[in-house]
Amino acid sequence: MAGVYIHIPFCKQACHYCNFHFSTSVARKTDMVAALLHELEMRRQYLPAGEPLGSIYFGGGTPSLLNAAEIEQLIGKTIALFGLKPDAEITLEANPDDLSENKLWELRQIGVNRLSIGIQSFFEPDLLFMNRAHNAGEALNCIELALKTGFTNLSIDFIYGTPTLTHEQWQRNLSIAFGLNIPHISAYCLTVEPKTALHSSIKKGKIAPLQDEHAQTQFNLLTQSMEERGYQHYEISNFCLPGHIAVHNSSYWSGAHYLGIGPSAHSYNGVSRSWNVANNALYLKAIQQNNLPAETEILTPQNKYNEYIMTALRTMWGADLTYLSAEFGEEKTRYLLSQAQRYVQQGKLQVVQNRLLLAPDARFTADAIIAHLFWG
Ligand code: SF4
Repeated sequence: MAGVYIHIPFCKQACHYCNFHFSTSVARKTDMVAALLHELEMRRQYLPAGEPLGSIYFGGGTPSLLNAAEIEQLIGKTIALFGLKPDAEITLEANPDDLSENKLWELRQIGVNRLSIGIQSFFEPDLLFMNRAHNAGEALNCIELALKTGFTNLSIDFIYGTPTLTHEQWQRNLSIAFGLNIPHISAYCLTVEPKTALHSSIKKGKIAPLQDEHAQTQFNLLTQSMEERGYQHYEISNFCLPGHIAVHNSSYWSGAHYLGIGPSAHSYNGVSRSWNVANNALYLKAIQQNNLPAETEILTPQNKYNEYIMTALRTMWGADLTYLSAEFGEEKTRYLLSQAQRYVQQGKLQVVQNRLLLAPDARFTADAIIAHLFWG
């Protein structure tokens, strides 16, 4: 099921851990919306005609910095160009400090039917450590308002593994979410990305390096609590109550085609992958001159195999060995199983109904295991 991703490259302030593409100046917000609308038109042919979208996803950056009229224009143009399935998911990533009751009502009226709110933590020192723009009170308040205004399809993001978050507080964060009956929770382990303030603070010795054991313990608490509460752990960082698997993100993991609009957005059409320039000024200039500021890579069988292994093994469905043989030949499946053998013996990988799966307690170290399974 095809989807459209729209990247809104603005944030109020830079969170210390974040390496996404954004600018903290919103001076060119109006120009950016015009350029996004134009890029949608320029790329009408990217997705097959006659196949309405299963999802529209506003990510960023901070999409909730747009006003409702701007979001409505983008949704309207997307639907006019590509069509939309009646049960399609329209998700907006939002930050708590942007979600007034009035804004939430407006978002519902213009067709946003799923919110993904960047809560990260309900504890003030933790939010300060991350340099989030919102406080703990706003984190709680916006969820209550979202539920009150009828956003039943709600996701929240948490970050664990910060040195400011004790295990008890992490458990408390989860309990608050469970108490509010949030149907979808994404929980990300804090990682130190190059060129971030966190990276620089650690390098300068202002902050101690992060402790793997601290994060591993919190991951274990997370998976155990989610299981007890009936959440499906359907992707390494994603959990949901039955019936709430994210449509848009699942399309990335299932190999569906998607079009990414905006600076730094990626697109995939089954043959190639392309990515827009991660620079607002260059993006605006190119689009205004009717040029697509994108680079494209034609995917080789090796690229496709490695991407499939990387994404499929992160999910609860794992890698389908029948599909692999049909797509890449039996030899590649034999190769995969031989690479996997030592992890199968260690109980970190399992073969169940002709699918290769990560064992639940190996998910925290998934990246290291998956890297050994790549072709080449
Ligand atoms: S609000 Fe989101 S995109 Fe913006 S800096 Fe923070 S984490 Fe990054």
